[in-house]
Amino acid sequence: MKHEPMVLVVEDESAVAELIAVNLRHNGFRVTWAIDSDSAQRELDAVLPAVILLDWMLPGDSGLALARRWRHHPRTRATPIIMLTARGDLADRVAGLDAGADDYIAKPFSTRELLARVRAVLRRRLPEQAAESVVLGPLQLDAATYRVTFDNQIIKLGPTEFKLLSYLMHHAERVHSRSSLLDKVWGDHVFIEERTVDVHVKRLREALGPDAGQMIETVRGAGYRLSDHRV
Ligand code: CA
Repeated sequence: MKHEPMVLVVEDESAVAELIAVNLRHNGFRVTWAIDSDSAQRELDAVLPAVILLDWMLPGDSGLALARRWRHHPRTRATPIIMLTARGDLADRVAGLDAGADDYIAKPFSTRELLARVRAVLRRRLPEQAAESVVLGPLQLDAATYRVTFDNQIIKLGPTEFKLLSYLMHHAERVHSRSSLLDKVWGDHVFIEERTVDVHVKRLREALGPDAGQMIETVRGAGYRLSDHRV
C-alpha cells in the first residue's frame, strides 16, 4: 500500500471530488481531498503528494494563485500540478500553465482522460527529478535548489522558462521541433499553439542575457537547439 502514489484533489464541489477519488482509488492511487486553499495547504504540509489535481475556481485563493505559490515553494516546486477547470479560453489555459501547472483538464472530462493525464505527468516528472543538476559549458542548472547560473552568475527564470531550459540542457546539441517541445515541456497540450514555444524561448533568451542567450539557436524550419558554442 505504501508505494501507491498519493494524489491531492483540491476541489470544492464534492460530487466532482468524489468521482475523481473513486476512479483514482480503483486505479491504484491513494487520494486526499481538500475543499479549499487552507485545507489544501494543511494537507500539503502534512504529506507531499505525487500529483496535485487543482480546481481553478475555489473559495478563498484561486487555483491559479495556489499553483503559482506552490510552484515557487521549495517543498512543492517539483510536484506536478494538473489544473481542473470549466474555463475553455486559450488565454486562461496559458495563464494556468504560466503559473506553473504541468497540465490542464477542462470540465467536463472523462475519467479515462483524467487517469491518462495523471499517469503522463508522473512519467514525465520522474526522470527530471532524478537528475539533480546538469552542466553545459558555463551554464549550470540545479533542480534541487531550482538555481541556474551562467559563469557562476545567478539567472532568475520563471517556472516555464526553467522547465524549458532544463529540458534543453538534458537534451542539448539536438534540434527540437516546436511540437516536440510542447509535448515534452508543456505536456499533451494539443490546444496550445506552437508560437507559445517561441514566446517562452524569447523570454528565456532575455532572462539568460546576451551571452547565455545565444546558446539557444533558432534552426530555421526545424526548431531550437541548445549548444555550447565555446567548445
Ligand atoms: Ca470549483
